[in-house]
Amino acid sequence: MKTGKIVNIECKCGKLLFRYFKAGKGKIIKCFIGRMENDLVGLGKLPTFSKPCCPDCGKELGIIMMIHGEVAIKLNQGTIKPVRV
Ligand SMILES: [Zn+2]
Repeated sequence: MKTGKIVNIECKCGKLLFRYFKAGKGKIIKCFIGRMENDLVGLGKLPTFSKPCCPDCGKELGIIMMIHGEVAIKLNQGTIKPVRV
């Protein structure tokens, strides 16, 4: 079994955005939509290259892109609360 854990990804304003299965250790740079546990902002419905914003404070969360053939969000490090795994 792969090691990893579920982490809460939050905006710096405190809004919970989604929960994510992080495999291994390290900083979270990008998140695959398919590995999200609770997609609270509806990221899974967005087209590639859209830039979702925090529903509470309106800051840009990142950009939706295809990484290795999977839909993912590349997180805007300035907006997302740093998570350590
Ligand atoms: Zn926010």
